[in-house]
Amino acid sequence: MSDNTQTFWNPMVHPGDPTSRNRIEIVKGDGNYVQDGEGNWLVDGVGGLWNVNVGHNRTEVKQAITDQLDELEYFQIFDGLAHPKVHELSDLIIEMTKPEGMAKVMYSSGGSDAVETALKIARQYWKAVGQSQRYKFISLKQGYHGVHFGGASVNGNTVFRTNYEPMLPGCIHIDTPWLYRNPWNCEDPEELGQLCAKQLEAEILFQGPDTVAAFIAEPVQGAGGVIVPPANYWPLIREVCDKYGVLLIADEVVTGFGRSGSMFGVRGWGVAADIQCFAKGINSGYIPLGATVVNQRVAQGIETCENFSGAVMHGYTYSGHPVACASALASLKIVQDEDLPGNAGIQGADLLAKLQDALLDFPSVGELRGKGLMVAIDLVVDKNSREPIDPMSGFANQVAAVALREGVIVRPVGTKIILSPPLTIGTEEVDKIVAALKQGFTEIDK
Ligand code: PMP
Repeated sequence: MSDNTQTFWNPMVHPGDPTSRNRIEIVKGDGNYVQDGEGNWLVDGVGGLWNVNVGHNRTEVKQAITDQLDELEYFQIFDGLAHPKVHELSDLIIEMTKPEGMAKVMYSSGGSDAVETALKIARQYWKAVGQSQRYKFISLKQGYHGVHFGGASVNGNTVFRTNYEPMLPGCIHIDTPWLYRNPWNCEDPEELGQLCAKQLEAEILFQGPDTVAAFIAEPVQGAGGVIVPPANYWPLIREVCDKYGVLLIADEVVTGFGRSGSMFGVRGWGVAADIQCFAKGINSGYIPLGATVVNQRVAQGIETCENFSGAVMHGYTYSGHPVACASALASLKIVQDEDLPGNAGIQGADLLAKLQDALLDFPSVGELRGKGLMVAIDLVVDKNSREPIDPMSGFANQVAAVALREGVIVRPVGTKIILSPPLTIGTEEVDKIVAALKQGFTEIDK
């Protein structure tokens, strides 16, 4: 397969990019491994795309899917209709998010949908409680929230916006709580948490508190480069939001259901959001599914407003798809039965420590960071200045190509290499990932 014979676009890859990885086809999956078209079994270091949390080819999930297909392949959940699996899954999600106080679920088909739904629900909430002027969204400069117009508007990285402007009005981006690189050159985690919370407060005051609908962020940034906020960050952000009534939206598309080492990302900070966005890990990628979950405050605001219909005028043909719901029930049972958040914490800590040991001495490796099974290797031209490598240099792609040759798929993203394997991995896979990357840096970082 060469570029000019391929009849589809690879998202976010320039068709003529000479540094892009040689195209390979993945034809099979099993557990923590996938097989390419030439028969090589490779460690899935990227978990599909941050989503295959329970691993590939799980009998329980496949069985649930075929059982559901035998029973009912599809029916809508509009107009007061439903089916048993959408009831069961909603009850389960509300049960699982009890510590966060979640009350109602709105389904969709993926992460971008889940974010779009969250932004629209936030706007509707404020209209329902008589504050229509609250329409603005504040988010983080490196945040990633999918590709729909709302999500792309709150995305921090301009590459996801510039081709599509003008974006949604009233979207403001503030600094990411990143210890390694931040505008204050602050190296103290506690101080950084305070600076970021103060910046949010200053921005809310500057915009006018009665114009701000919500603050949206990922509990741990994924695509932006696995940025793990300091311990005081989320509690302080929650405080600021509460002070001004601003809704807090946690985009848990990556962190939801275990990836960051706790069942939900915000739980790792002991904080509850008003709205959580789920996709990916909700059913481990077996069938497209997204869900947006809101707490009692938001649900009640929308449902009990006298001057408002109380209906969420939003929903998709595939909202609550029976087969997707069935696959989610089976997948979440595995997440709970096998304590995959716990395993993500243990294997993630092991992976990070072993990578630090193996890679930190290479000149191009600036920072190695992670939480649970979200890990990033930050690439620099100079360790002291921390200046990032040229994202177009192809360096990350070259390291990834060697790792692939050594039997491991990793994700090169410009100035970083990202790892997000299934939450089912063990020491064998951890060691293979570390060895493949060490070989990659040994050959490329000369
Ligand atoms: N939010 C976050 C935090 C994500 O990481 C992603 C996808 N990587 C999305 C939203 C969008 O999800 P999807 O690609 O399923 O639309």
